Amino acid sequence: MGGKFLSIGECMVELSQAGDGLLRKGFAGDTFNTAWYSRACLPADWSVDYFTALGDDPMSDEMLAMMAKAGIGTAQIRRIPGKTPGLYLITLKDGERTFSYWRDTAAAKKLADDANHLRAAIEASDIVYFSGITLGILSSEAIDTLLSELRRAKALGKIVAFDPNIRPRLWAGKDIMLKTIEAGARAASLVLPSFDDEKVHFGDPDVAATIARYHVLGVPTVVVKDGPGGVTLSSGTEVQHVPAVEAKTVVDTTSAGDSFNGGFLSRLLTGATPAEAASHGAAVATTVIGHHGALIDPGLLPR
Ligand code: ADP
Repeated sequence: MGGKFLSIGECMVELSQAGDGLLRKGFAGDTFNTAWYSRACLPADWSVDYFTALGDDPMSDEMLAMMAKAGIGTAQIRRIPGKTPGLYLITLKDGERTFSYWRDTAAAKKLADDANHLRAAIEASDIVYFSGITLGILSSEAIDTLLSELRRAKALGKIVAFDPNIRPRLWAGKDIMLKTIEAGARAASLVLPSFDDEKVHFGDPDVAATIARYHVLGVPTVVVKDGPGGVTLSSGTEVQHVPAVEAKTVVDTTSAGDSFNGGFLSRLLTGATPAEAASHGAAVATTVIGHHGALIDPGLLPR
């Protein structure tokens, strides 16, 4: 039996260097990337919808068309007159990538301003996915609105999945960042942190400390990603380690965590055990890091 997957956040215009002073245009954003890989991995009786706000400009139209072409539902996306999507530019210097952002006035910052609209979209879904980046772009009022709707969804027994995706540059200070990430986790039934981030920002000495911290916040299921070290799953009573799938070539690690989440959640939702789901997530992530860009052709992914 199918169901409805809803991912909430910001998709941006991506510009990357294409040689000779040319820039290549694409679209990406953490929660959108996860929607993309969930759509690719879920069977046809599951719908995947993206929840955000866009403008009424041609770039917003193009982004919507791209989503629809990928089979991702856009009916919940609000259009805000006079607004535009956020944009980022990737520059390469000596093999190192630098990201510059233009997102302060992006339409997506207003995604949670209409509480009734948000509630209706969440109510119609079986699983809701969001991230620390979703929270990081919102005003404090909008964070409260979003988290109260998510807490309600969790209380109703829906799966609320959260990737903390900690990005200091989105936050006014460390304190508010960590407190809001914790509030996000409290609203979630499943948390998918990356150990690298948790170590740096929460000071966790090891994966076990990350797991313990999220359980204390009331998260029943914790899935800690640790790059090539694989993932550790914890239900509170049972802890399991699932190895990464070896990457023969690492071309571009953008979206490793996002694509893992998409592969993992898709299998979990369609009856796999958490360990089986994590193996699939790892296989998806290894394929994604073997190719350029955040969004790779679904035809390249493992079945
Ligand atoms: P994030 O991109 O969010 O920082 P991670 O780096 O932990 O997330 O990676 C997410 C998943 O991607 C890992 O759990 C693993 O399955 C896979 N992965 C990432 N880097 C590698 C790598 N070098 N080799 C194999 N798998 C990797």
